[in-house]
Amino acid sequence: MKTDCRVCGGKVREFVDLGRQPTANGFLTPEEAEREFFFRLAVGVCERCAMVQLIEEVPQELRYHGAYRYHASGSAGHRQHFEQNALRFLETELTGPDPFVVEIGCNDGVMLSAIAEAGVRHLGVEPSTNVAELARAKGVNVLTRFFDEGTAADVRAEHGSADVVFGANTICHISHIDSVLRGVDELLSPGGVFVFEEPYLGTIVERTAFDQIYDEHVFYFSVTSVRAMAERFGFELVNAERIPLHGGEIRYTLARAGARVPAPAVGALLADENARRLSEPETLERFRRTVEGVKDELLTVLREVRAEGRSVVGYGAPGKATTVTNYFGIGTDLVPFVVDSTPSKQGLLVPGSHLPVRAPHAFSDPYPDYALLFAWNHAEEIMAKEQEFQDAGGRWILYAPEVRVI
Ligand SMILES: [Zn+2]
Repeated sequence: MKTDCRVCGGKVREFVDLGRQPTANGFLTPEEAEREFFFRLAVGVCERCAMVQLIEEVPQELRYHGAYRYHASGSAGHRQHFEQNALRFLETELTGPDPFVVEIGCNDGVMLSAIAEAGVRHLGVEPSTNVAELARAKGVNVLTRFFDEGTAADVRAEHGSADVVFGANTICHISHIDSVLRGVDELLSPGGVFVFEEPYLGTIVERTAFDQIYDEHVFYFSVTSVRAMAERFGFELVNAERIPLHGGEIRYTLARAGARVPAPAVGALLADENARRLSEPETLERFRRTVEGVKDELLTVLREVRAEGRSVVGYGAPGKATTVTNYFGIGTDLVPFVVDSTPSKQGLLVPGSHLPVRAPHAFSDPYPDYALLFAWNHAEEIMAKEQEFQDAGGRWILYAPEVRVI
């Protein structure tokens, strides 16, 4: 299927199809399972601007609503990261007489609450009402709306221009990204910066992290594609920093063209992407073949241990688990249930594959023979916490970057 690039209108060439998939965070009750929404999860690359993006998309109203289940403050590591972000903005960007910062998709206020505590003017723009309420409870000002050029014009009319526009794991979610960039152009002060942190295509390809591909991630940014997008809308990519969040992301800083001197890291990362031929069709085709190999190998392992009468439990139910279980066809015959510490997911079913989600105590009652680790980006932290499982003879099954039983 052909699609037009959402950034430049060029032709998008499909390179991987992960099959029929539901919305990744649409955890549901058994009754809701009968009228579940599915779409074809396939990804392509723009032949003109190199932006990697979904072929089909899910309407945003189905993704962000009153019951959005991802809470950014969920992990201590994330909280610390966003507090540091806030401090860095306060020290380097928000130093004028009456600075103003806008966060697109402020989630539960994990970053802006530190800005609010410092008494700096701020506004979170967050369409999911439930997480917006959590942010308000932390003293954060929130506008419950999708961010686009119309929202940006209204925010500017009411509050004036922004010194910083920030987004974390948000910008790659927004299919009308052209309107977002025009909105930032409308809102940003002449010397301001647009900073966003998003999953990195380079990491996804390098680590075979295909489970980063799901409905909410409309775009898979590279330094090459973000630089082209910035230039198209009158901005310049002035910094690109690798950060360890969510298994490997990049923090991009855009300024108005010519306003700042680009950091050397931009050129270094561009050179690295060129050397790896990151956005080239043959590299992306190789990624697809690697993913198919992981699928065959993991299913073989799971079928063998189940045939031996061994028990298997899924560990963690992030949105990623939806992609993996649906693409691989992992049902309750192979993995009877999953444990997750998020209370709002417990008692519900993983979208599409309908594996039941249970509270963490079900993991040790009794320990299974094997645990399939869906939350692999927290592998070290989890394995250390669950040392007793391994002491009791339990073994972990990992599938990224390759299938391993340890
Ligand atoms: Zn394009």
